[in-house]
Amino acid sequence: MLAVHFDSPGEAENLYIKEVARPEPSEGEVLIKVHASALNRADLLQRRGFYLPPPGASEILGLEAAGVVVSEGADWSVGDRVMALLSGGGNAEYVTVPEDQLMAIPNQMTFIQAAAIPEAWLTAYQLLHFVAEVKNGETVLIHAGGSGVGTAAIQLCRLAGAVPVVTAGSADKLKKSMELGAAAGFNYKEEDFSSCLLTFTKGHGADIILDCVGASMWEQNVKCLSMDGRWVLYGTMGGVEVHGDILRQLLFKRGQLLTSLLRSRSPEYKSKLVKTFDENVLPYFSSDSRTPLHPVIDSIYKMDEIVSAHKHMEGNKNLGKIIINLDS
Ligand code: NAP
Repeated sequence: MLAVHFDSPGEAENLYIKEVARPEPSEGEVLIKVHASALNRADLLQRRGFYLPPPGASEILGLEAAGVVVSEGADWSVGDRVMALLSGGGNAEYVTVPEDQLMAIPNQMTFIQAAAIPEAWLTAYQLLHFVAEVKNGETVLIHAGGSGVGTAAIQLCRLAGAVPVVTAGSADKLKKSMELGAAAGFNYKEEDFSSCLLTFTKGHGADIILDCVGASMWEQNVKCLSMDGRWVLYGTMGGVEVHGDILRQLLFKRGQLLTSLLRSRSPEYKSKLVKTFDENVLPYFSSDSRTPLHPVIDSIYKMDEIVSAHKHMEGNKNLGKIIINLDS
């Protein structure tokens, strides 16, 4: 089968398409013919050699895929249309998946739309519900509002009855965030988002901060965290080294600093997450729903355009998901 491959870590130009062995499903897994996959920030890190796949996972890039089951399983049949949360291997013509990390693609949804869902939406759902335990009426500050995870988190906040507020680095990302349901948005490159958020919440601050930026924003984050707020670190795009009195400021807020990574979670945890999302969120992707959810798609690349796709994400140009279409 064909797969995205790199021989040594480095720049996007190291990526190329290679003929590799088709994976064989183990006990409890099925084989999927992949029709579409998507990019995630983790793929850029893995390509650079900074984020190795967990033990036993495929070395091929790709944390999500949508396609058709081609080997009979206990719960899935040949021909079923599915989307998969993966520990790796999605940027290839075939991938093996534990059966309980699959979700049926809703009837009206295309493979392209479905490929935009598993990693970004399950991450956002997990952060809000499993980690931060969001409650009705709470204010949630979401950094990188125009990212794959951010565009999902905004909509999931509204579904939970919470109030999403975002930061982003461009006017079009802020505008799209507001269209998706953000109550306010601030350009972190042009204004002090913590002052803006405190003004917006009349001094209360953010009950929850979904933080994929880390070091470069820590002072503003702790300043606008509410008393007893939960600050959830799940990425470090703005660096990892922190200097200053972060502990004193966090203590005075009685704040909780929580962290989360999805890829390294146990199979049992992922299975529970997928099942909970399938039951509680997937039905809202229907256009018949009173509050329909939408996967936000930025662009679609063919598999042999993988270098351009990585460069597009690395340049922070995408608003929503970058899809790899394996049917073209
Ligand atoms: P994405 O779609 O590529 O969006 C990332 C956006 O973040 C960029 O377009 C850029 O938008 C913004 N950004 C980049 N560097 C920044 C910086 N230094 N300061 C502020 N904003 C910055 O990303 P994604 O794939 O959805 O991932 C988003 C984040 O979630 C990443 O950090 C990723 O590692 C993390 N993640 C974590 C988990 C987990 O389990 N922990 C799972 C999935 C993703 P602007 O134009 O607004 O600057």
